[in-house]
Amino acid sequence: MMESLIQASYFIVAAIFIIGLKQMSSPVTARRGILWAGAAMVLATLVTFLAPEIIDSDETLTNISLIMIAITIGGGYAWWGGRKVAMTDMPQMIAMYNGMGGGAAAAIAAVELLKATTEASHLNQIGSESVTIADVLGADVAVLGILGAIIGTISFSGSIIAWAKLDGRLHRSKLLPAQHLVNAMIAIATIGFAISIYFSSDLTPIVIFFGLALVLGIFITIPVGGADMPVIISLFNALTGLAVGFEGYVLGNAAMIIAGIVVGSAGSLLTHLMAVAMNRSVSNVFFAGVGTDTGVASEAAQGEMKEIQAQDAGILMAFASQVIVIPGYGMAVAQAQHKIWELTQLLNEKGVSVKFAIHPVAGRMPGHMNVLLAEAGVSYDMIYDMEDINADFKNTTVALVIGANDVVNPSAKTDTSSPLFGMPILDAMDSDNVIVIKRGRGAGFSGVENPLFFSDNTKMLFGDGQKAASDLIQAVKELS
Ligand code: NDP
Repeated sequence: MMESLIQASYFIVAAIFIIGLKQMSSPVTARRGILWAGAAMVLATLVTFLAPEIIDSDETLTNISLIMIAITIGGGYAWWGGRKVAMTDMPQMIAMYNGMGGGAAAAIAAVELLKATTEASHLNQIGSESVTIADVLGADVAVLGILGAIIGTISFSGSIIAWAKLDGRLHRSKLLPAQHLVNAMIAIATIGFAISIYFSSDLTPIVIFFGLALVLGIFITIPVGGADMPVIISLFNALTGLAVGFEGYVLGNAAMIIAGIVVGSAGSLLTHLMAVAMNRSVSNVFFAGVGTDTGVASEAAQGEMKEIQAQDAGILMAFASQVIVIPGYGMAVAQAQHKIWELTQLLNEKGVSVKFAIHPVAGRMPGHMNVLLAEAGVSYDMIYDMEDINADFKNTTVALVIGANDVVNPSAKTDTSSPLFGMPILDAMDSDNVIVIKRGRGAGFSGVENPLFFSDNTKMLFGDGQKAASDLIQAVKELS
């Protein structure tokens, strides 16, 4: 009876996860989707307290105490961290949580493998036949458990490197000498130890296996550079989902299997979309070492940057027929989205058509700019994807670039030595005028110089994004 109740609850949990995920596909319903998914997670956690292996054991009190301690530490930290995290630090927080998911899946595998080792060793001591981990767990559970362990561990250590890069703690992307050979050897050794775990009852291969998988995740991620991080982040997201699904099979937990597979497939699709957006194959992201510290300098941008004051920029925009706003990571840093929306409404009142152009990898996480614009109240029919708006720059009086850099860098089209080469960009340079708001001469995420800033039709409005947007509002208001 209790078992049926648990399974029915897991089924409901899985159905709510799917509904939540569906709602996350549109900014209009995304917030509700998060709440649904969160509610499902609470239900899945509560059901754990009914599991017979928790409550019908000799150690019920210890089990419940351990769960409560874990919930208090994990939930408390997440509650506190989620409330205080700055919008700009959200990507690294997500990378970290993603890594925790992979690590949790790997930890489940580790516990199950350790239990199986103990049991196999015990059986070997009392019997004559040699019993392996696979004999104890069953072939299917052993294979999926070990696979989930590899994937989860790589996702764990790789996501921590991704977190360090997004948080600015690891700056360069280094391709070490013979990196690919070293990675290949570690990968082969990890698989070798994975196979030996299956056929043995020893602890040693398990320990070495987890150590190697951790190193592999680090080594795979360190060289990923240039602007390819979005691909790796969504790939680790997919891998974590897959690892959770596999470990769900090991535990016989339907909610984990379904949720893991949903995350795995959604993450795989996102990885594909991100790779297409960067015009790279996933293998190229991993193995090409594009944008790493290899000593190949890309073409230096020529000429001088020309400055403009907010008042002149305001006049230019107020008398424009069309303005296209290109937001980037700097808009998130400056929290300038509300001011930009206010400016948009003022320009609209003056009969200027304003559109927003979103590059798929703008900001530091998939959908970053859409979230910010939605938060500020920008209506969705003003927001355009790259492929829908690029042709329109030719009919545009002003392209207003606010805190964006890599996503408007023309060297991605022209300079074969650029780490960005091949990435589709927003064609801001095709507009009659380009106004760029940024604080100074700082490069974008890829570290590459941007020739757009030196081009004849570009003027730089130096300053913090929010301050510059306020000054533009003031300038437009003064015209009325
Ligand atoms: P970039 O990181 O290329 O450029 C941001 C620019 O904003 C900088 O040049 C900086 O110049 C400026 N800036 C920073 N703070 C402020 C501020 N307070 N006010 C005004 N300007 C500011 O951003 P993009 O959005 O163009 O490109 C995103 C990059 O991040 C891509 O390379 C992408 O691949 C990568 N990435 C994307 C992820 C995703 O999932 N979307 C994940 C990980 C990486 P200055 O210092 O002079 O002000």
